[in-house]
Amino acid sequence: MESLEKMYIDGQWVSALAGKTRNIINPADGCVIATVVEGAAEDAQLAVAAAKRAFYEDGWMETPPVERARLMFALADALEQRTDKFAKLETLNNGKALREAECDVGDAAACFRYYAGLATKPHGQTYDVVDPMQTLVVREPIGVCGQIVPWNYPLLMAAWKLGPALAAGNTVIFKPSELTPLTAIKLFELIEAVGYPKGVANLVLGAGNTVGQEIAKNYDIDKVAFTGGTTTGRSIMMAATGNIKNISLELGGKSPNIIFADADFEAAVDWTLFAIFINQGEVCSAGSRLLIEESIHDEFIERLVERTKKIKVGPGLEEGVEMGPLISETHMNRVLDYVELGKKEGAKLMCGGQRILGDGLEKGYFVEPAIFTNTTPDMRIVQEEIFGPVLVVQKFKDEKEAIALANNTIYGLAGGVFTQDGAKGLRVIKKLRAGITWINAYNPTYNEAPWGGYKQSGIGRELGTFGFEEYTEVKQININLDPSPIGWFKN
Ligand code: NDP
Repeated sequence: MESLEKMYIDGQWVSALAGKTRNIINPADGCVIATVVEGAAEDAQLAVAAAKRAFYEDGWMETPPVERARLMFALADALEQRTDKFAKLETLNNGKALREAECDVGDAAACFRYYAGLATKPHGQTYDVVDPMQTLVVREPIGVCGQIVPWNYPLLMAAWKLGPALAAGNTVIFKPSELTPLTAIKLFELIEAVGYPKGVANLVLGAGNTVGQEIAKNYDIDKVAFTGGTTTGRSIMMAATGNIKNISLELGGKSPNIIFADADFEAAVDWTLFAIFINQGEVCSAGSRLLIEESIHDEFIERLVERTKKIKVGPGLEEGVEMGPLISETHMNRVLDYVELGKKEGAKLMCGGQRILGDGLEKGYFVEPAIFTNTTPDMRIVQEEIFGPVLVVQKFKDEKEAIALANNTIYGLAGGVFTQDGAKGLRVIKKLRAGITWINAYNPTYNEAPWGGYKQSGIGRELGTFGFEEYTEVKQININLDPSPIGWFKN
């Protein structure tokens, strides 16, 4: 990368008004990999002014859907053509294994394609109401949208946010995590290259408590969309009350992965590893609570521990690595603190949970994947989102207890059930208070299907037609086909 990476505001690559910069770190070795400009509230305000002008005055709001689709298809193609470059950069900045980063780039391009296609599809309704009236219902873009994303899927979250917003005709101020801005910067270079008009898509770099808060509270922003922790989500929600912003929140989880004794044993073990340890466990939907039917508990844990110990942890760019470092030293320490807490609370650590200091990994933020058994529902490690490679196991006797334990959480993002009894699988899933669920699988995500949570896991849905609708206002248009006087008042 070049020596100083800038932000993209109103079609220009600019420095921060205050002249500040920030070093970006490779979590695999703690080295500086780039220096980026560090914006603040006043930079965000410039972006908001540009987005407002682009929407209301420059005509983006009236751009034909076919043109919005053309630009987004071009963006998807440009991104896909650079898969290697983007994947390597994502791994360098976030730490994840390269094969995961490659999937993320493919998924991001597919997400842009999905929304490019959706831009031109029918979105309205018509009703014959009372003769001679005809009612049309149309969907219109909301206006200026602020979007704030976390560090766990930097590029993919950018696609999930920018795809539906731009396809629906909004203008955008996008803020990546201060820790992981690099692929977003490269994505905005492509946004510029494919020809999005100036001011339509703006990239503001900076911290959550400055740029993020400005986005949440700015009165000229009509909608704020956020992915991240529940505590941050709550503060964004409060800041957004000033002008009654439309909000979408995709927050944390402590999602149950329920294994019944009649499940395909090896398949369930395999998916359980995928449920919790993909992306170092830094996944909002992670199956971070494993609920196992009592009769297979010991055998299942034995096999799971055996396989967990074989997960190859190392720098994501290294051949054969299956799990990378955690995102930062601060976050690593937070995860390690949870491991200590789990031991103090009386849970049994079956494997892992230590920082990895040998094999040349001592400068990175590597943690061995960990599994806790002998938990009780009230333990903090069972209730709180750890957001790392730490699995907590809970035992259940029957279906009823499984459901009760599964729902015993403030969260409601995701959940999975493994059983060979199809009716039981569906019965249990229907009782789960969660928005994203799987039967005999865990984690696969599809652009077509809505993504989001119940309870404190969020508000609204991303992806699918639901995600598109989140970026639209609904207007009714009532047309009198026989425009004669109504005659209500007699004189
Ligand atoms: P945050 O939720 O704090 O960060 C997510 C995004 O929000 C980042 O862009 C961040 O900016 C921004 N942000 C932070 N504070 C504010 C604010 N006051 N107003 C507006 N925007 C803000 O995640 P953390 O990195 O602090 O992680 C904390 C915990 O949150 C994790 O350990 C995990 O439990 C959870 N989390 C959940 C995620 C999910 O997908 N559900 C994703 C990430 C974290 P910046 O980083 O630039 O400061």
